[in-house]
Amino acid sequence: MSALQAVRGTHDHLPETRRAHRRVAEAAHRVTALYGFQEMATPIFEFTEVFQRTLGETSDVVTKEMYTFHDKGGEQITLRPEGTAGVVRAFVANGLQQALPQRLFYQGPMFRYERPQKGRLRQFHQVGVELLGVATPLADAEVIACAAAFLRDLGVAGDTTLEINTLGDAESRANYRDALVAYLRQYAHRLSDDSRERLERNPLRVLDSKDENDQAVVADAPSFLDYLNADSRAFFDGVCAHLAAMGLDYVMNPRLVRGLDYYCHTAFEFTTTILGAQGTVLAGGRYDGLVEQMGGSAVSGVGWAAGIERLAALIGDPEAPPRPVMMVPLGEEAERHALPLAERLRAAGHVVEMTYTGNLKKRLKRADRSNARAAVILGEDELAAGRATVRDLDTGQQDAVALDAVADALGQG
Ligand code: ATP
Ligand code: MG
Repeated sequence: MSALQAVRGTHDHLPETRRAHRRVAEAAHRVTALYGFQEMATPIFEFTEVFQRTLGETSDVVTKEMYTFHDKGGEQITLRPEGTAGVVRAFVANGLQQALPQRLFYQGPMFRYERPQKGRLRQFHQVGVELLGVATPLADAEVIACAAAFLRDLGVAGDTTLEINTLGDAESRANYRDALVAYLRQYAHRLSDDSRERLERNPLRVLDSKDENDQAVVADAPSFLDYLNADSRAFFDGVCAHLAAMGLDYVMNPRLVRGLDYYCHTAFEFTTTILGAQGTVLAGGRYDGLVEQMGGSAVSGVGWAAGIERLAALIGDPEAPPRPVMMVPLGEEAERHALPLAERLRAAGHVVEMTYTGNLKKRLKRADRSNARAAVILGEDELAAGRATVRDLDTGQQDAVALDAVADALGQG
């Protein structure tokens, strides 16, 4: 351990990174608002039980990845590994089920004790939506459309593919599970240790193993589609029909399962081949049993979450920040005028920075380094005449301008 180094799997967000993340989060906020989602926030830690109860005792997140500790009062606390459990707890605790449907958006840090690698962190960030209280395929198709619109807004829709699958209802899932376990048992000797363990405790998870040998076995596994009962089939056909009506392309992926136990019916992901192994940028699905599991009434839910880091990597270099105007006060009298003038310029919408020391040449160099577009030079002679020199740093052209006309002379920020 070095006290100066951020903990493994966590990152400092210096301004450029922060800008890229903000762009992703703001696009999510803006686009999801068009679909009626309103932002809410829950605490970043909860009683461990909130996640244990909802993510399932056998999920990877609960068995391996949670940051859990006892606080000084002896409570068992977990840093949230994902957003849905907390949103649903808050939904029940605050009586939101009285006013359905609810359309909720959230964003913020999540924590998982994973093996850090490209696109896989211990503190990462998500944006997500939950649509609670709609049991029909319309809702699934609508949240998928919202996800697609978000990715279009970021300009990455062309780099991603929408993959969908259905996990059916409880009956279909039980039938499929039996068939899957029977199939996998034949090849147990070829599975990874992890997957052999999952085979007993949470067999669906074997389907989305990232191990190559596992994937070879899974390639010929039975498909969910052959085990759907009539209701589940109709539900899935409904979702697909709505997607087609909106002109949304998708590919069927019968191996697509969500790692979390409460998912049923629709499961979907937007994936990319550009980011290497960690190619899922947005993932979601339907979770009809979750609200009840949390102690609420039987309320359906469907939603998604997107990884901000992965999307930020996909959009590439963020926009540069607006170019500042640099104040260059030369001498004490000029300094007395510099801050009030800078305040007036900022009030007019200009980004204004200050040079504090050095001669004119040195200060103009500094302005250049800050990518300033203009310098406002305050010298003693000019001040005596109530003026400043406004210098365009791209063309070198400069004019003497009355102090109260500087904001206008700088044009649009
Ligand atoms: P994976 O299969 O990659 O482990 P997951 O099923 O655990 O993903 P979800 O719980 O569905 O992921 O989270 C939704 C999204 O959040 C993912 O698609 C991904 O973009 C992002 N995400 C999940 N875990 C991490 C992580 N450790 N670091 C960075 N982003 C992550
Ligand atoms: Mg994971």
